Amino acid sequence: MYTVKIDGDKCLGCRLCAIVCEGLDVRSDVLAYVAEPDKLDNVKEAAAICPENAIKVIEEN
Ligand code: SF4
Repeated sequence: MYTVKIDGDKCLGCRLCAIVCEGLDVRSDVLAYVAEPDKLDNVKEAAAICPENAIKVIEEN
């Protein structure tokens, strides 16, 4: 289980995170966001690839 925080001030909307992680998506108004919370298996990889370091992942039990 992950809690994901995406810094909207840092996000550029490049979509790399959404390509890596099925649960993330990008919208023109909010940029990157969690679209499907049950599909975040690759969210740590998405955080690692984000060029702006905009994704914070907190792992919960
Ligand atoms: S990879 Fe980072 S900068 Fe790119 S859309 Fe995702 S959160 Fe935004």
